[in-house]
Amino acid sequence: MRQRLIVCNWKMHKTAAEAAVYLQQLSALVPRADPIEVVLAPPFTALHVVGQSSGHPFGLAAQDLFWDDTGPYTGEVSAPMLTALGCRYVILGHSERRQLFGEDDAGANKKVRAALRHGLRPILCVGESLSQRDRGDTENVVRGQLLRGLEGLSKEESRTVTIAYEPVWAIGTGRAASPEQITATHQTLRSTLANSWGSETGEQVRILYGGSVTPDNVSAFLASAEVDGALVGGACLDPHSLAKIVACAQSSQR
Ligand code: PEP
Repeated sequence: MRQRLIVCNWKMHKTAAEAAVYLQQLSALVPRADPIEVVLAPPFTALHVVGQSSGHPFGLAAQDLFWDDTGPYTGEVSAPMLTALGCRYVILGHSERRQLFGEDDAGANKKVRAALRHGLRPILCVGESLSQRDRGDTENVVRGQLLRGLEGLSKEESRTVTIAYEPVWAIGTGRAASPEQITATHQTLRSTLANSWGSETGEQVRILYGGSVTPDNVSAFLASAEVDGALVGGACLDPHSLAKIVACAQSSQR
């Protein structure tokens, strides 16, 4: 049985001092995350606040990395730097990286491999644009992003990856996908994983939904057996709102 996972993408929000206050508030509201897993992904500058404070039940993720370990890459951060701060996960291929910073599937693949080399678990984001959905291309788009993003991974490596299905048109818009749309796309992703890396990978990889998830709609998404959790952006910035999402995930635990 796949453990439910809620990943909180803070994007470019909160200073280190604000992160410390948030962590204190959230820890009071969510003293235990069991039986689900809750992972916080603050900006690079606040990773140490979450990574170095003990006594909370949250895991730590980075929002990106660069594929080489060291070198002349001004502004970049590598996998060993992230593991040294206590990161266990890293979000890769987010649509904002793809749209605003020109990231492509080949780059996401190099980052996935770099993460795995250092024991970091990649959370690979895939998702179609509105015009791609309107053209009926959703399946082809997400299947292609998945296969290119995970190209070259062994069966063992593929099982440690998490996939986040995030339709571009649903991110930060208040217009979430419907449970039916999500279920259909997750089925496509899971069958692609099973066909390419075997049935164990198909069964074990967690597939999250992301895109305007809120305390009001998360239960409807988690009601689908195809949805293993959520990647939450805007709604996780308020600890009260995130605590409600976690409570919904805990009470809908399968
Ligand atoms: C995201 O950043 O991955 C995301 C899903 O954002 P939001 O929840 O704000 O749509």
